[in-house]
Order: sequence, then C-alpha cells, then structure tokens
Amino acid sequence: MTKQDDLEQNANTSYFNLPPLGISIAFPQATPASIFPPCASDYYQLDDLLTPEEQAVRMKVRACMEQEIAPIMTEYWEKAKFPFHVIPKLGALRIAGGTIKGYGCPGLSITGSALATAEVARVDASCSTFILVHSSLAMLTIAFCGSEEQKQKYLPSLAQLKTVGCWALTEPDIGSDASALKTTATKVEGGWILKGQKRWIGNSTFADLLVIFARNTATNQINGFIVKKDTPGLTATKIENKIGLRIVQNGDILLKNVFIADKDRLPGVDSFQDTNKILAVSRVMVAWQPIGISMGIYDMCHRYLKERKQFGAPLAAFQINQQKLVHMLGNIQAMILIGWRLCKLYESGKMTPGQASLGKSWITLKARETAAIGRELLGGNGILADFLVAKAFCDLEPIYTYEGTYDINSLITGREITGIASFKPAASSKRSRL
Ligand SMILES: Cc1cc2nc3c(=O)[nH]c(=O)nc-3n(C[C@H](O)[C@H](O)[C@H](O)COP(=O)(O)OP(=O)(O)OC[C@H]3O[C@@H](n4cnc5c(N)ncnc54)[C@H](O)[C@@H]3O)c2cc1C
Repeated sequence: MTKQDDLEQNANTSYFNLPPLGISIAFPQATPASIFPPCASDYYQLDDLLTPEEQAVRMKVRACMEQEIAPIMTEYWEKAKFPFHVIPKLGALRIAGGTIKGYGCPGLSITGSALATAEVARVDASCSTFILVHSSLAMLTIAFCGSEEQKQKYLPSLAQLKTVGCWALTEPDIGSDASALKTTATKVEGGWILKGQKRWIGNSTFADLLVIFARNTATNQINGFIVKKDTPGLTATKIENKIGLRIVQNGDILLKNVFIADKDRLPGVDSFQDTNKILAVSRVMVAWQPIGISMGIYDMCHRYLKERKQFGAPLAAFQINQQKLVHMLGNIQAMILIGWRLCKLYESGKMTPGQASLGKSWITLKARETAAIGRELLGGNGILADFLVAKAFCDLEPIYTYEGTYDINSLITGREITGIASFKPAASSKRSRL
C-alpha cells in the first residue's frame, strides 16, 4: 500500500470524523476545528453555579458558534476579512447590549453576558471582540452616559445588530496614558468641531455609529460624542498585517473638522472618570474572553491527543502529554472561578477597579501560558490556523494588550492595594491622570 492509499483509507474511516475531500487527506489522524470539538474543559461544572437562564444563554451561544462560525472562521481569519453575512446570526442570539435593560436590549445578568462572551471566544476570539466593542463599549456608553433621546434612538437597532457601533479612545501617540488624549472638541454654534486622530479602533471601518472621546477646548475635560458614518471630514482606514484577531477590522480614524450637532454630544461624559463605569463592566467581559479562548484550546487538544497516534499509541497515552493537559485544565478552572467571582462582586456592587484589573491581567497571563502548552501539544499542526490553537495563540496577544495592557492593569491593582500610584517614573511624577 502506498502512503497516499494509506492516507485516503484513513480519510474514509469514520473514526476520524473528517470532512469530505481534500481536507481529510491533508489532515490524517486528526479532525480540524471546522468540526468543533465537544466541550471537555468545564471540569468543575460551572453550570451548577448558574441560573437556568444563564445556562440557556450558554448553550444557545455555544450551539450557534459551533455550527455557524466554526466552519468558516479559519478562511476569514486567513484572509483578514470580516464575514458580514454572520452579523444577522449573531444578532439573533440576542446577546448584543448584554446587561442593558430596556430599549430592546436583552437585560442579561453580568454572569450571563460574560458566559456569552466566553462561548463566542471559545470558537472565535475575533467574533467576541467584534461583539464586545459594539456591546460592552459603544452600547454601554450610550446606555450609561447618553440622553433619553439618544438611548431610544440608537440602542434598539444596535441591540439587534442592524447597526454596528465602535468606541474610539486610543490615539496614535496616546495609548496606555489614555486620559492624556489630544483630539479636541471645540464648541461652535449648534454643535462641536472635532479634530484629531484615533488608532486601533475595532469595527471602525464599517461601523454605523462611532463613540468618540475628545478634549473640550474650553474646560480641558474629556467629552464623548456620537459620530455617524459618512459624516463629512471623518475617515477610517483599515490597519493591515495584524498577527492576531485578524477578522476584526481595526482602523485609523482621521477627524478633520468634523461637525457634530449638540444633540449628539453624550451628556454623561464630563471627564475621563466618567468612562470608569463603562470600563468596569467591559473589563469583566474582556476577562471572560481569554477564559473562552483557553477552553477552546483545551477542547481542541483533548480531542486531538486521543485521535492522533505516535509510537503505536494515541498521543493522550503519554505521561508528559497528560501532565500538560492537566496543567491547562487546572489553569482554566482557576480562570473560570476568578471570572465568576468578579461577576458576583459586580452584581453585589462591591467590585473595585483593582479587582477588575487583577481579573483581566491574571486571566490573560494564564491564557497565554495555556495557549503555549496547547501549541506544543499539537506538534506541527500547532502552527496551523485550521487546528484552532495557533489562531487562538495569536488572538490572545492583542487581548493581553487592549483594555489596559497587562502592566497597566497590574499597576491599577498595585495602586489600590498600596495606595501609591506608580504609573509615572518617579522623577517626572506629579499626579497620575489614570
Ligand atoms: C487589536 C486591538 C484592538 C483595539 N481596539 C481598540 C478599540 O476598539 N478602541 C480603543 O480606543 N482602543 C483600542 N485598542 C488600543 C489599546 O487599548 C491600546 O493598544 C492599549 O491601551 C496599549 O496602548 P499602546 O498600544 O499605545 O501601547 P503603549 O502605551 O505604547 O505601551 C507599550 C508598552 O509599554 C508599557 N507601558 C506603558 N506605560 C507604562 C507604565 N506607566 N508602566 C509600565 N509599563 C508601561 C505597556 O504595558 C506596553 O507593554 C486596541 C488595540 C489592539 C491591539
């Protein structure tokens, strides 16, 4: 029997559960992530800590992601294109708007919303970032800081994903030191003129509505504005060549004397501190992204090691591989429990910024470790996007950096537990702006 015959015979064996043609021959002895592995990562049975509604959201999102998104995600990730045709499917899940009550939003518990985030991220991190920017940043800012008229006008269609939002804080020269932003808002008759640049803004190349933060030239404080797509003077250009979250369309925004009517200024943003209540929720959501990603990685490795054989035995039979699986599984249980506890602290009104930051930073750190072990376990296939782990490994890098880098979140917790801010080098330190 030739090697090719051997491969084709394997490809036709139902044990390997391979998709038809081409792909089956290219991936002998292992099923790619387009047929998503069953969930084996919830070892301590999180469902026991959830309400029936939260369990139902979890299962609904998991089914949609495994059936609708898993088969197409590698192709779109490779092409760095956004699959616009999936937006109605994600909209039908009724998770956009997360915890927001009324205005056509789902009014989920924070735990329910966090689980939805994790289930999306378990299959595809880019899709979860798309929803997170839209829901936990853009929509939440309108819900927390918008006028009644703005909430009624914008939230219902955003909740159904009939329109898409983005959230623009970061600038080319201003990243971690976000409160130092330079984009200006100058009051003129009937509205405001915005001038400046934004960078890295997720969804901005196609968003219908952009929440933009700018410095009021009269008060020197940060204000927020709703800017509609196609407003004269506004351009958004896609950032190319990303190695992670390739499906997400991040943009460079240029604001060249953009006129915004008074009715589109967010009345609840009068200073940088007003963004804190939004960031508190969104940091909890971001913390659940690496949890979901790590679960997907583990699930993939768990199936792979049982399918693929070396030295006459499944890879799962080797002690070193079992130890690595258990290491990953332990990380994930600890990550889930910290994420769950963060939700409970938030629900009881007790969560502090330092607690949210510790959750985000520690969970992302452990996710990176988990992904690195998973990548090793898949051998050569550990560098192919088709087997999820390589893709998830890369997707974790921007998550480690956005919504406050690992370092900045550590310093936020450090300030809270010591009472000493250490964001600025001692010589130049006057007062932290964070
Ligand atoms: C894929 C992606 C999506 C994003 N989406 C959005 C979005 O939708 N909207 C938005 O507004 N922004 C978005 N961002 C921007 C993101 O929030 C910033 O990248 C992040 O805040 C870090 O800023 P920076 O990249 O300028 O890094 P820098 O601030 O230049 O930091 C570089 C390094 O220095 C470290 N560092 C900086 N200051 C300190 C300090 N005081 N002490 C110790 N270490 C320090 C950092 O931790 C980091 O390691 C996105 C970024 C990425 C990569």
